[in-house]
Amino acid sequence: MKHIDTGGVLGALYSPKKTVFRVWAPGADALETLLYDHGGEQFAGDPAGEKPLSTVSLTPSGGGFWEGEIPGNLKNTYYVYAVTREGLTKQAVDPYARAVGVNGMRGMVIDLPATDPPGFRERKRPPLAAPTDAVIYELHVRDLSAHPQSGISRRGKFLGLTEGGAKNAEGLSTGLDHILELGVTHIHLLPSFDFKTVDEAAPEGQFNWGYDPQNYNAPEGSYSTDPFHGETRVREFKLMVQALHERGLRVVMDVVYNHTDDISNFEILAPGRYYRMKRTGGYSDGSGCGNETASEQPMMRKFILDSVCYWAKEYLVDGFRFDLMGLHDIETMNLIREGLDKIDPGIIIYGEGWAAGDSVLPEEQRALKANAPALHPRIACFSDDMRDGVKGSVFYASQGGFINSGAAESSHERAGDRDEDVKFGIAAAVEHPGVDVQKVRYSASFWAKEPSQAVNYVSAHDNLTLWDKLTAVSPGADEETLLRQNKLAAAIVLTSQGIPFFQAGEEMARTKGGDENSYRSPDSVNRLDWERKSRFTGLVDYYRGLIALRKRCACFRLRSAQEIRERLRFLSADPGTIAYTLDGTPEAGFVIIFNGLAEARRVDIPEGDWDVLVNGDHAGLRPLARLAGGAVSVPAVSALVLCNAHSLPL
Ligand code: CA
Repeated sequence: MKHIDTGGVLGALYSPKKTVFRVWAPGADALETLLYDHGGEQFAGDPAGEKPLSTVSLTPSGGGFWEGEIPGNLKNTYYVYAVTREGLTKQAVDPYARAVGVNGMRGMVIDLPATDPPGFRERKRPPLAAPTDAVIYELHVRDLSAHPQSGISRRGKFLGLTEGGAKNAEGLSTGLDHILELGVTHIHLLPSFDFKTVDEAAPEGQFNWGYDPQNYNAPEGSYSTDPFHGETRVREFKLMVQALHERGLRVVMDVVYNHTDDISNFEILAPGRYYRMKRTGGYSDGSGCGNETASEQPMMRKFILDSVCYWAKEYLVDGFRFDLMGLHDIETMNLIREGLDKIDPGIIIYGEGWAAGDSVLPEEQRALKANAPALHPRIACFSDDMRDGVKGSVFYASQGGFINSGAAESSHERAGDRDEDVKFGIAAAVEHPGVDVQKVRYSASFWAKEPSQAVNYVSAHDNLTLWDKLTAVSPGADEETLLRQNKLAAAIVLTSQGIPFFQAGEEMARTKGGDENSYRSPDSVNRLDWERKSRFTGLVDYYRGLIALRKRCACFRLRSAQEIRERLRFLSADPGTIAYTLDGTPEAGFVIIFNGLAEARRVDIPEGDWDVLVNGDHAGLRPLARLAGGAVSVPAVSALVLCNAHSLPL
């Protein structure tokens, strides 16, 4: 491959006296910057016909780069590039645009320091000693505040995440305060860079998850209070990060570099250089969205690296979740880890270790779950093993899992069928003598080298919510039964080794009415219904108690595979039941038991006095009862977490 100098900063580089434009457009015959005083206001229209304020030619500077310097103060001036090849001129928005106009139709020259809220860079990001200390809450910006009962005034906006003191009709906290009460450490935001589908000029009545990337380096306009002025969304995103950091919460961005909604910007600037092509012609489509980017190509790799590091440095983002990470090559992912480590090693990285379709990228180069051993140990993959082991396949709505393994009328599975999947998840997918990997359904090997590589979860934005899944598996079940299953699922995820993750609202039995792909369903389906917080207070308390226990006791967050092998020991238990001890030196020892059966089970445990910290109803740091060791009876569909009495300084 021809060597390309990928060094240098690209984009519109502003200073009050001049702005430098630098862009990569190999083989172009001419390249001009067209300047405008506004961002172009049509949504799907063609602003290309409008006469620019001025036009400035860039000159080639070698290696396919073009450069130009425009004197004067161009702050908040909008721009596009006009690229001429073989007599044909086409317009492209700068992929490096750090701010954009309404609906992302034009880039904007931005004075970035001027968008920093006062004190923005004085406060250090909340420190994170290890990825396994994270408890991740997956949230769509709009869902948090869209409900009329949210009590939040800036509904659907970044600023909605900054509002403390919001309450629902019954006076219970909502929004930011609710998240703080839960005790999670990270808020993972669904795509919040500029995406395509929602018309920013009139976002009401529309909804989209945002997996349709338009401009990677600018925030989404429909989440700002003024999408027409490119600097507003930048400042408001920073205000959001600042408000969360001030409260000790960290921010993860869901990033979607694997495909673009529209190929034109990249293809006009550098035809054939940013996407993978099939040998037979046409775009490779491992994303299922019509194209896939070529992370292994030098300038795409640089683009992703630059973009991720930009969000981390400019906005102080604390983590990144890579959509369809399995479409990125391993080397790029490891370079991203290196790049972020130079900014802050506490920044977390995780992603979907799979693709959505066939790709031309060789299997061994892909950042797939099965290739996790080749990834940096602080790049994690979602554990679909745990996800489907606990509550049944996402692909077959009525199929149950471990938590309803005894509900014969609903699970279509035999008790014990999913035990090994769950044990595999409990041990964070690292090699463990107590787990028989041959019996794990989705994985042929222990794919995690370290617990920092495994994200455990049972619900995310994709597929049914946990509550809807439980309902689909057991359509006739009463609410109490579903609640027991939900609590058991939560207890498994939040006590397991690895990194726990859950979808916002799981803690209040979130429902989308059975909508399993709500990517463009209305707010009424997607928004968090804060009235459910009042109805399911016991469930909310249960999540809060589990998170408090996890944060208090380091043995639930062991940092190495070796420690997990030494300190986590599975006990013998009947099919449909899992029991293990955590030898918590220097803390107390723990016994953890999960019974997914519809009847109680006796389990032999070590002798001694044991305090109950978690049972089928309650979870937390306050002992609920004291039991004598030897053997315990675990009620149907419930968890039991026991702590060696007298030894935990609570
Ligand atoms: Ca947009």
